[in-house]
Amino acid sequence: MKNPDDASLETKVVHGGAYRCPHMAVTPPIHQTSTFAFRDVDHGAALFSGEEKGYIYSRMLNPTVEALEECVAELEGGHAGLACGSGMAAINTTLTTLLCAGDHLVCSDAVYGPTCTLVESILPRCGIECTVVDTSNADAIQSVMRDNTKVVYVETPGNPTLVISDLETVSQVAHRGGALLVVDNTFMTPFLQQPFRWGADIVVHSLTKFLNGHADVVGGMIVVKDEDQYSRLRKQLNHLGGVLSPFDSFLVHRGIKTLALRMERHCANATRVARFLESHPEVEWVRFPGLKSHPQYEVARKQTSGPGGMISFGLKGGLAAGRAMMNSVKLCSLAVSLGGVESLVQHPASMTHASMGAEARRRASISDGLVRISVGIENVDDIIRDLDQAMQPNRIPAPSTCC
Ligand SMILES: *Cc1c(COP(=O)(O)O)cnc(C)c1O
Repeated sequence: MKNPDDASLETKVVHGGAYRCPHMAVTPPIHQTSTFAFRDVDHGAALFSGEEKGYIYSRMLNPTVEALEECVAELEGGHAGLACGSGMAAINTTLTTLLCAGDHLVCSDAVYGPTCTLVESILPRCGIECTVVDTSNADAIQSVMRDNTKVVYVETPGNPTLVISDLETVSQVAHRGGALLVVDNTFMTPFLQQPFRWGADIVVHSLTKFLNGHADVVGGMIVVKDEDQYSRLRKQLNHLGGVLSPFDSFLVHRGIKTLALRMERHCANATRVARFLESHPEVEWVRFPGLKSHPQYEVARKQTSGPGGMISFGLKGGLAAGRAMMNSVKLCSLAVSLGGVESLVQHPASMTHASMGAEARRRASISDGLVRISVGIENVDDIIRDLDQAMQPNRIPAPSTCC
């Protein structure tokens, strides 16, 4: 394609990061190699000094990985991407590049669990100060900014409450205070939300979720806006070492080709499921960015082009009802993770967040009846029928008749 920047996202997901193969292969080949031979000693010297561009060793750069990096960078409207071995590797590499001992970080209070652990216990051990705040409230961010605040880190929609931060406002607050804005765009993907348009400085992803979409790879991506950031992060990633393999890069790149189709279906299915839940007698509340009842519905409409596939809802029957529902779903799998073609349900109070204890869960707004669904791309009536049968009132765990 001559000018991919003019292309629409539906086209970019198919053609992004096109690899110029000398044999004209339509699909980027998998360069399953750890190292690359030099033509002679001068060639090796030129590659190491940076005089000549090329491949040396796959932790540093690999053509299959690079094709995926280019693809995600194009989708985000960024300058370059850096593929990482997981979403957490992407987040950790980014934060430890931007922050040193003595610096201060401001982070959303509703974030992916391991991000919370990184920010609240691992980074402080290295002398990085961290403040966790409700980033859907710009005044709250403003009130915790300090002279040494270097980064504001936002996940939107946040996990698992789907609270939404206004990226335009947050970036203004961050930049006024001399800090960079880093956004975790995993839940929306660049197909629905492009944080750079609203002032973000760096975007991070778990490729594991919607971008790959097939629940068969763990991976992450950092996308930057300029060459200076790119070379700083590339150096750090090369030395920390958390890179993505060529084969996994190939799989994610293949998954992205259907991103537009999948996201459209995730959004349509989740909208139907959210409306069904809203009218269900066993359901106390539903949180979904596409419902008018979402507290930041207008912000979602401004900065996203669709509601995504994630829904949180509360069961009136609390913990017991949540446990009963988890044991009763048939089509939906009972599993953590999200963003794959298959529908997954998860009950934080009895699973991912059980170890927090009831009081800490209450502070984080994770009620005992909260259920999170990642709505897949199956037939939506089948998904609804499954959820409905799993939420029958007064369902008592059936006495087991067999062993
Ligand atoms: C899963 C997830 C991560 C971490 O990604 P991994 O690939 O599991 O390391 C980070 N942020 C969000 C929002 C996620 O959902």
